Amino acid sequence: MRIAFIAHDKKKDDIVDFVKRYKDVFEGHEIFATGTTGKLINEMTGLKVNRFLSGPLGGDQEIGSKVAQGEMDIVIFLRDPLTSQPHEPDIAALLRICDVHCVPLATNLGSAEVFVKALKSHN
Ligand code: PGA
Repeated sequence: MRIAFIAHDKKKDDIVDFVKRYKDVFEGHEIFATGTTGKLINEMTGLKVNRFLSGPLGGDQEIGSKVAQGEMDIVIFLRDPLTSQPHEPDIAALLRICDVHCVPLATNLGSAEVFVKALKSHN
């Protein structure tokens, strides 16, 4: 599966812990991420990560483009719901395009955990 990871700054520790915890699951898949999220995941887990631009510089839109073209299977997007982001329109567009194409989208750790369970049974 092609899996995209995005985490807002206050969620970066969470996403690194999450990917570390399930490294055995994710290493069987193709990992993508926005710039800084991807750099951290790669450095902290050793997993190969295909990186897009940083989110505020267009990375969310690049992932949205992959979703629109049928080239992304799952999006795990740990959003910070308590801090306003300069790129809110890009974030909304990514959420929307996932819904348009019925691409599974986890926006918090609870739903991300459910996705991992599904990935485990898919392996
Ligand atoms: P980043 O982008 O991984 O480059 O920080 C994520 C975001 O903040 O949208």
